[in-house]
Amino acid sequence: MTLPAFLSDPAVGAIFDALPHARIVGGAVRDALIGRAVADIDLATPDTPDAVAAALARSGIRCVPTGLDHGTQTAVVNGRGYEITTLRRDVETDGRHAVVAFTDDWREDAARRDFTINAMSMTRDGAVFDYFGGQADLRAGIVRFVGDAATRIVEDYLRILRFFRFFARYGGTPDPAAVAAIRDALPGLAGLSVERVWSEVSRILAAPEPVAAIALMDERGVLAAVLPEGTSVPNLARLVQAAAPADPILRLAALLIGDAPDLALRLKLSAAERDRLLAIRQPNVLTPEADDDALRRALADVEPAVLLDRLWLAGGGAPGWAALRDRLAAMPRPVFPLEGRDVLALGVPPGPEVGVRLRAVRAWWWHRGCQDSAEACRAELRRR
Ligand code: ATP
Ligand code: MG
Repeated sequence: MTLPAFLSDPAVGAIFDALPHARIVGGAVRDALIGRAVADIDLATPDTPDAVAAALARSGIRCVPTGLDHGTQTAVVNGRGYEITTLRRDVETDGRHAVVAFTDDWREDAARRDFTINAMSMTRDGAVFDYFGGQADLRAGIVRFVGDAATRIVEDYLRILRFFRFFARYGGTPDPAAVAAIRDALPGLAGLSVERVWSEVSRILAAPEPVAAIALMDERGVLAAVLPEGTSVPNLARLVQAAAPADPILRLAALLIGDAPDLALRLKLSAAERDRLLAIRQPNVLTPEADDDALRRALADVEPAVLLDRLWLAGGGAPGWAALRDRLAAMPRPVFPLEGRDVLALGVPPGPEVGVRLRAVRAWWWHRGCQDSAEACRAELRRR
């Protein structure tokens, strides 16, 4: 294998100079081995947190104590953060949080990680340490728990959802041991915070090909547990099949057949996420037969991105809808050309009357296809 690009990154080199015993761990190793883009670079090291802080300080690398009780600090080099965590083993678990002890044993640290594909580490020379067969599983598309699946899930029920996140991205055939253990552990999902549940569900939905994972969640009762409002996997499949953007809110809008405001409240979606979900699910009024006037009217009232999302939901890959989306995307958004001061200029005194007149002319402008100039709108205003 050619060495992953991050090993020749000077920032990573500087960290290795300070901490020669450190290794790259987790997702970066996994993604480098399978030739995918590496998102974050995390490192682990047998050095104690104090020794890490001291070594980074000696090398002039800024170090932020981001999760010190779990042994994690973030080295900041050239504006980018690199998490460095002292090797750990779990002493106690409660279904979500673990009490950890530091160790200098790489295998112990790997053993507490969730899946074999996530449990590998790599030295600065590119040597891979793979204690649990992660490379073979990565090649075979098997998301396998490190150790006994049932035990690992009871330690931390979030791992049920993490299983589907990684299955969506790396999985082929589901690991039967994992699937059986998940079925028995379903009640444990109720103990997870809604923030964590939504964070995982949205990451599953954001995977390039999420349908197999969502369908498996549905089949195993996981989907009903996390989205009890009601779902339709075929609706999601249609959207993905149409090559709509891999956007988790758009995909959620397609998947959800139940009440969207309820879901937004229960899972504590951000205000932006909620507003977008509710806006996308408003009825779509445009069809491929719509003329340009109709498109302009829709654009005058609703943000273009929301209209496009509604078209994805309504038409998906059906004939004619791609052309409609192209027309909509290419059309400038009409802006009603008058303001309150145009009404005041006619001698109307400030007050509610101003808005009434303005809205009347806007309605006229809108019905005529949102094309009349400011001049024409002012003439219409004078007629009223
Ligand atoms: P991504 O590219 O999606 O961020 P990742 O592998 O970096 O993938 P993270 O959730 O960022 O995933 O976690 C980093 C690593 O920490 C994982 O690869 C895994 O080794 C370990 N890990 C994280 N959460 C857990 C957990 N709940 N149980 C066990 N190990 C975990
Ligand atoms: Mg990560």
